[in-house]
Amino acid sequence: MEEVLTNPKAGFYINGDVFGAEGDFITSPEVSQMFGEMVGVWAMCLWEQIGQPKRLNLVELGPGRGTLMVDLLRGASKFKSFTESLHVHLVECSPALQKLQPQNLKCMDEDSTNENVEKRTITTLAGTPVSWHAALEQVPSGIPTIIIAHEFYDALPVHQFQRASRGWCEKLVDVTEDSSFRYVLSPQATPATLFLMKRCKWAAAEELEKLGHIEVCPKAMELTNTIAKRIGSDGGGALIIDYGLNGVVSDSLQAIRKHKFVNIFDNPGTADLSAYVDFASVRHSAKEASVNVSVHGPITQSQFLGSLGINFRVEALLQNCTEEQAESLRTGYWRLVGDGEAPFWEGPDDQTPIGMGTRYLAMAIVNKKQGVPVPFQ
Ligand code: SAH
Repeated sequence: MEEVLTNPKAGFYINGDVFGAEGDFITSPEVSQMFGEMVGVWAMCLWEQIGQPKRLNLVELGPGRGTLMVDLLRGASKFKSFTESLHVHLVECSPALQKLQPQNLKCMDEDSTNENVEKRTITTLAGTPVSWHAALEQVPSGIPTIIIAHEFYDALPVHQFQRASRGWCEKLVDVTEDSSFRYVLSPQATPATLFLMKRCKWAAAEELEKLGHIEVCPKAMELTNTIAKRIGSDGGGALIIDYGLNGVVSDSLQAIRKHKFVNIFDNPGTADLSAYVDFASVRHSAKEASVNVSVHGPITQSQFLGSLGINFRVEALLQNCTEEQAESLRTGYWRLVGDGEAPFWEGPDDQTPIGMGTRYLAMAIVNKKQGVPVPFQ
């Protein structure tokens, strides 16, 4: 999964822009500007809870086109004491997206007459410095940090296990004589089995009994560990939004190309691979990594955006827009908060928006000193 998505030559994310109607899949920030704006409201509330620090790292993991950060900064640009405290750090593995993000963020290199001072890149949307990194570990530590991970965890590689008569066996990928791929079961325990055992310890026996198949994501456990340690020592919090379950995930790995599900082995590197996020495992990993953090949620995206006031935002935007913009605002709103059933949808049935409101879950990991973050009270 890791190779298919992030191989430096042929990885799905590495060479181009895969998002939006023209691409392979669409994400919430691409659906409506309101998504990034509401995440901005969340970040500002947390910054207040931290005590309005003068310096704050705002980190986004896997920013895609940079749309969420563009909307967040544009929305927050009037709140000068917040934006002046920020240093934005984007953690991105794709060189193509690293090129696109500064364009969308309207970045420019700061003029500096002093040759001894390193030149900074500033986004003109809010006047804040922006830096790029390949991993969270490279983001400088020592000041309060807010981390946003939207549709990042689902791209981390999972290991699948299947129950057999000899116990849990890892499902591995084999190359057949005609050079196609097939699954085989490991003859004995594999290194990832350690993570399976760890995950099973966090689950109730009844939860495991009924499962013939389990997915674990060691990279998600490690990343959560790093996040919790950072938040525990530097202060701040992390917001994780993704599709997933609040419990053990059985069999969710899927491939999507041009908005359609395809076979995982069909031309790897040309379709997105993603898996459900196991939010219970994220919670246990965070608590295990640091006694200084508390974990909140998951709640549904609909509850998260609703409690932050997205309905007031849509009303305000609708006051001052063209009929075409109003249509796209309404559709975007229902896609973000609806459940696919969309009982409140007043348009034609065949245009009922895909509901992201209940499929996507939001979880926060914060430094205990800061109390419970909005809107998780
Ligand atoms: N958050 C964006 C994009 C989600 S897609 C949105 O919601 O629209 C996943 C993003 O994570 C892409 O930008 C991809 O290039 C990046 N990514 C995936 N795996 C990564 C890894 N291991 N390290 C750094 N970035 C990664």
